[in-house]
Amino acid sequence: MGGLLDQKFSHGGMVVTTVDDLINWARLSSLWPMGFGLACCAIEMMGSMATGYDLDRIGVFPRASPRQSDVIIISGTVTFKMADRVRRLYEQMSEPRYVISMGSCSNCGGPYWEHGYHVVKGVDRIIPVDVYVPGCPPRPEALIGGIIKLQEKIKGETLMAPKAVEALLDV
Ligand code: SF4
Repeated sequence: MGGLLDQKFSHGGMVVTTVDDLINWARLSSLWPMGFGLACCAIEMMGSMATGYDLDRIGVFPRASPRQSDVIIISGTVTFKMADRVRRLYEQMSEPRYVISMGSCSNCGGPYWEHGYHVVKGVDRIIPVDVYVPGCPPRPEALIGGIIKLQEKIKGETLMAPKAVEALLDV
């Protein structure tokens, strides 16, 4: 029976690559998004977590605190009034942390792009975004697709990156 150590790894460097794959597998299999929504897109996000789509089956389970979350799904309109709070919540999450921008409002301002004086024209102006999910609102299938993209991205991470080492040592 083939175990983890019997597999061929793509990055070279046997020990580091093995640890990378093991940690990445653990991270991508237990993504915990913060239970936080901003506008109508949040309804679809909640629907994704309910019985019909059941994000829990791929290890995605919402948490009530940024301290316990490693993903924030920006689901809705980011107003200038909320922008500070969004950035503060993001900063309270421990590393490594990820951001999914869900829907047109969060991606670029959406329907408020031209005349919405009160709306930030893309959440990536205040925090770094890992995955963008298009739609107004995106359906749960689209959000699940975005999460799978994020999982693919995590698969390629390495502890050799300074940011990951800092997170591991908690410095
Ligand atoms: Fe609402 Fe559309 Fe904006 Fe989502 S993208 S928050 S559905 S207006």
